[in-house]
Amino acid sequence: DTMREDYDLIVIGGGPGGYLAAITAAKEGLSVLLFEGGRIGGTCLNVGCIPTKYLLDKAAAMEKVRSLVDQKIFRECGLFSFRKIQEGRNEVVHKLVSGVEYLLEANKVRVVHAYAALAGPGEVECDGIRYRGKDILIATGSVPSFIPIEGAEHAMTSTQVLELEKVPGRLAVIGGGVIGMELASAYCSLGSEVTVLEVLPELFPAEDRKAVAYMARALKKRGIHIFCGMKVQKVEKSKTGLRVCYEGAQSGVAEADVVLMATGRKPNLNGIDTEAAGISLTPRGEIQVDAYMETSVPHIYAIGDAVGGYQLAHAAYAEGEAAVRNIMGRSEAVDLSIMPRCIYTMPAFAAVGISAVKAEEMGIAAVTGEFAYSANGMALAEGADGLVRVVMDKERETTLGVHIVGENAPEMIAFASAAVRDKMTLEEWERMVVAHPSLSEMIKEAALDCFGKSVHK
Ligand code: FAD
Repeated sequence: DTMREDYDLIVIGGGPGGYLAAITAAKEGLSVLLFEGGRIGGTCLNVGCIPTKYLLDKAAAMEKVRSLVDQKIFRECGLFSFRKIQEGRNEVVHKLVSGVEYLLEANKVRVVHAYAALAGPGEVECDGIRYRGKDILIATGSVPSFIPIEGAEHAMTSTQVLELEKVPGRLAVIGGGVIGMELASAYCSLGSEVTVLEVLPELFPAEDRKAVAYMARALKKRGIHIFCGMKVQKVEKSKTGLRVCYEGAQSGVAEADVVLMATGRKPNLNGIDTEAAGISLTPRGEIQVDAYMETSVPHIYAIGDAVGGYQLAHAAYAEGEAAVRNIMGRSEAVDLSIMPRCIYTMPAFAAVGISAVKAEEMGIAAVTGEFAYSANGMALAEGADGLVRVVMDKERETTLGVHIVGENAPEMIAFASAAVRDKMTLEEWERMVVAHPSLSEMIKEAALDCFGKSVHK
């Protein structure tokens, strides 16, 4: 070991969790060192949130044009260049990564572009150099986790499927979670014949049943073959490509040119010898943290996909902010009850807070109000279809949850998040003025509908 350098905070991993925590800490006046062995921006910017949304946006545009052609408003359907889509995606990713690199520099975060290892209490090692940090933050993210089946090596990760050179004729997706469904939705719009195989009896079992059922119906109507309750046995080569063999109520085979394995992600603990450091793991192998994001070892914090929970970029952001607040001596837990969950399929899905079923489990008498896109002016103008469901506490008349399936659901959910966080009351909803026409009007209408007060329903 050679020289030692001292910092207030050392962050391992420059994904959304790590880079945001590093900048936040630097703004608080701490000296911060950030290690990133791959690319700044992590999974989210490089191979996750952003590239999938670039692809999904182009796919949505295709759907829109198709619908306008069906209505004879447009005369012909646009042909597209997949190569141009891929180039455009790279440009956007590059722009965002450069932007974050600039922010790190502007905030005087020192960045070392290399993999680092936790070397002991308050110590991190990289390329034979030891660095001392008063506090250490682990933000090493996650990597795809394949199910151990025969022929798994024929399947691709989401990263590989994002980087395909041409649209596959037939795409089979193992795993109907968020990543699987988003890529299924995108490639279906771009012309692939898509089959999704999900082992659970239903898609997204933790979310509002009616909203999920609506979404599943709409996705099937678009031509995506969705089979739930199907356990994939093996993937094998065939004369024309690949065969995915599955068993369930009935057994079957999905023929495909490309197979996506989207069966979840596991914490990336490369370089983090948790045992040597004495850091406890959860039974699922994630780094265990308390409500303040501190591990079982004082002054070592962990956030983001490495700690499991919601594997979402904004969860990593929120956890990073909480970790920094706690390093600064302000004990504040992350409020997981207001974490928005979005699925950017077509139609999209977004939810915040709890469903009526969950409220019941918690012993809260709840009422659900509903409003359909088909009764909203903006939705009709845009040709959008969907459903908004709001759950309110029957006695206290406060907002408990909002569930949206349909166009722009992820954008609308921000407004709903504020309502759930502030436990907005029926009276406050009545006094709320929402721009007309807008899709967001439906949230107010659905809230009022909980108590039979929606005017347009
Ligand atoms: P990561 O983003 O995984 O970053 C960890 C970083 O740490 C990596 O850059 C890695 O190189 C680096 N690293 C690891 N070990 C070391 C080491 N020892 N030394 C130095 N560096 C190291 N979430 C959403 O909220 N919305 C979405 O729309 C969305 N879409 C997604 C689509 C796909 C296809 C995928 C795969 C994920 C998506 N996610 C989405 C999830 C989101 O990307 C993750 O939740 C988020 O990136 C987690 O952030 P993180 O900072 O914990 O880790």
